Amino acid sequence: MSFSALLVNRSEDKKISSSLETIEESQLPEGDVVVDIDYSTLNYKDALAITGAAPVIRNYPMVPGIDFSGTVVESSHANWKAGDKVILNGWGVGEMHWGGLSQKAKVNGDWLIGLPKGLSTYQAMAIGTAGYTAMLCVMALQDQGVKPEDGEILVTGANGGVGSFAIAILSAHGYDVVASTGRPQESAYLTELGAKECIDRSEMSEPGKPLGKERWAGVVDCVGSHTLANACATTKYGGTVAACGLAQGFDLPATVMPFILRGVTLAGVDSVNAPISLRQDAWDNLAETLKPETFEAVVEKIALSDAIETAGKLLKGEVRGRVVVDVNS
Ligand code: NDP
Repeated sequence: MSFSALLVNRSEDKKISSSLETIEESQLPEGDVVVDIDYSTLNYKDALAITGAAPVIRNYPMVPGIDFSGTVVESSHANWKAGDKVILNGWGVGEMHWGGLSQKAKVNGDWLIGLPKGLSTYQAMAIGTAGYTAMLCVMALQDQGVKPEDGEILVTGANGGVGSFAIAILSAHGYDVVASTGRPQESAYLTELGAKECIDRSEMSEPGKPLGKERWAGVVDCVGSHTLANACATTKYGGTVAACGLAQGFDLPATVMPFILRGVTLAGVDSVNAPISLRQDAWDNLAETLKPETFEAVVEKIALSDAIETAGKLLKGEVRGRVVVDVNS
């Protein structure tokens, strides 16, 4: 049986090329579960992989796509049987193991989680890795005891996928959210998502002092670098900063002062290798917390054949919101 998939190849002179190919099922990699994919998404990482703009892919040829949702069609894994609806995020899929921009995938059953009740496979990918990562960040704040009555929560990189979901989730849980953005023209959108105030990201992104005026009970940081350092320096005594991103940079030009003088916690968030129980909790929480109209409104649906062109646009910053790929259209 053959199916369609996006394939990224590297030539002998190291040129990257991507094309839509017909693949035989026998070509699928090792794995104990075969999934008929309904939807995948186009993340920044996927765009880098498809265009070859950064060395995301570890072995070639590779089917990109770091997440997908679909239905199990074959399984020798104890947890899964044909007909089960499943989601996959991360685990190096789309980087080291053939991924979601394909009509079929063969994966390790340990990587899958069940589609939470109340979500369709389309809605799961409308939330995607961005929403799931945002939920991990919010759970990291909650695990450290940050409560709505403790004060304001700062979300940096607010207009991005993770930032927007973090605002929606925090506001649904009753937190007062302050959104830091470089696109103040999108303030109305951020307010609609639940931000009570927007600040210009330049307030956070320049080199700052070791300690500043205490303001945040918690922070979801998608940006890293000086922004993360300043976020730590302005977090209130005993507050928590959840760090998940590096949109400004992977450096952290900070001092230990917020940690040793104010008991601030810096909580790292990784979605790729997060343990399965944490993932399932995050997805169950997402299904309970988010109203479909919140995230469906910011989704653009494209066909698998449009993924290469859209990847180029995404890297040029010409795509707003999230891109869900219908691999069967
Ligand atoms: P997006 O590209 O959708 O959003 C990033 C946002 O960061 C932008 O929308 C912009 O927000 C802001 N930004 C961009 N450049 C800069 C800059 N130079 N300085 C300050 N802010 C900037 O990415 P995602 O939301 O999908 O991901 C956010 C980050 O989290 C990324 O770094 C990504 O790699 C990382 N990530 C990490 C995961 C993990 O497992 N830890 C999982 C998923 C993502 P605005 O326009 O509002 O200023």
